[in-house]
Amino acid sequence: MSVVSVIGAGPVGLHCASILKEEGFEVSVFEEHGNIGRPVQCAGLISKAGIEELGLKLDDSVVNQVKGAKIFSPGGESITVEKKETVAFVVDRFLFDQVFYKKAKRLGCDIHLNKKLIDLRGSNLFMESSGHGELHRSKIVIGADGAHSVVRHSAFKRLDENGFVQGFQARAEGNFDKNLVEMHFGNFAPGFFAWVIPESSTVARVGLGAMLGENTAENFERFIKEKGMEIKVLSKSSGLIPMAAPGSSLVAGTTLLVGDAAMQTKATTGGGIVFGLKAAEVCAGAVANHLKHQHSLNVYDKSLKDLNKELLIHWKIHSYIKKMRPEHLDKLFAKAKNAGIEPFLEEHGDMDNPSRFMRKMLFKPKMWGLLPAALRIV
Ligand SMILES: Cc1cc2nc3c(=O)[nH]c(=O)nc-3n(C[C@H](O)[C@H](O)[C@H](O)COP(=O)(O)OP(=O)(O)OC[C@H]3O[C@@H](n4cnc5c(N)ncnc54)[C@H](O)[C@@H]3O)c2cc1C
Repeated sequence: MSVVSVIGAGPVGLHCASILKEEGFEVSVFEEHGNIGRPVQCAGLISKAGIEELGLKLDDSVVNQVKGAKIFSPGGESITVEKKETVAFVVDRFLFDQVFYKKAKRLGCDIHLNKKLIDLRGSNLFMESSGHGELHRSKIVIGADGAHSVVRHSAFKRLDENGFVQGFQARAEGNFDKNLVEMHFGNFAPGFFAWVIPESSTVARVGLGAMLGENTAENFERFIKEKGMEIKVLSKSSGLIPMAAPGSSLVAGTTLLVGDAAMQTKATTGGGIVFGLKAAEVCAGAVANHLKHQHSLNVYDKSLKDLNKELLIHWKIHSYIKKMRPEHLDKLFAKAKNAGIEPFLEEHGDMDNPSRFMRKMLFKPKMWGLLPAALRIV
């Protein structure tokens, strides 16, 4: 019987496994694919502050560094927030995942490729490997198996009813501003937004998210046409982005969920890497304390308080915007611009932690006109 089994060798599962191995525990990682980091289903935008807080070295996975964002309302009002320094990295997701893989291997984690979890019953893991069934047993199971999580489906039925956004993305050649990402709200991306994330001034990741049931490939064509973008598509990908309010318990018996499997994405942007990695540290800490000192695994839920506070604000902002009619969103953009949101966010903006800049709004009289909207969110 293994001590700890991590299902899924994405960045979150591998980070969790490495921490536990460093703490001295035997860790097995099971990954359904034959290699790590493929297929890529991500735009690869990660806050610099998040990476620094996590103390990560990204090696050669960074392909571009951006200084801010240009955000467009449905009617074309725009807000530009551009700092002098780098605020986010655009990473090659394959190379990024390899950073975590190499570390986990170097530390001696037992990584099994081509092993797919089919079902989980308590400590029994039913796996499929090259068309054959296998049974593994594990004291503790950590579900880091992404948006489609089998662990969540097997052990957390209630959480599995949560929502998702469907993402569609193309890597494309064209003319782009290398320093700024773009976000576009409009009817081509119902319930979410479209994005342009530059790898360079000639290549970008152009994509959108939309509610389940939308034809995102068609929506993408509409977005390109509506914006008059001239691009040459190099490759396409798609994937699910978990979209839920935080707060449900992520511990069931000796099974824990983390990362996309636990729906730990920012609902405003769909970004899940920084929060997933931070949650991996909390999860590994709770498991280590359980194994060393018999502390309850439920400490994991309690220790997520600070992360969940931020995720909840992201969720409320997303829900507030999602309910707005396009003309109201245009008006909100105009109002925010007049109130000086651009210089305010250039000074105080924080991609991951909205509570930090929302508090600061109280001390800026020019921002008070936006408080009714902000108060509806917090
Ligand atoms: C279109 C799109 C764009 C995105 N853009 C961004 C972005 O710009 N920035 C950002 O921060 N986030 C972004 N995200 C979200 C980001 O990709 C995820 O939050 C992140 O990958 C979560 O990491 P994870 O390790 O939890 O899950 P994953 O990276 O999904 O890893 C899960 C792993 O588990 C494996 N697995 C799944 N099921 C099983 C099974 N049954 N048995 C064994 N192994 C299994 C998978 O093969 C995979 O390797 C985007 C997502 C999408 C879909």
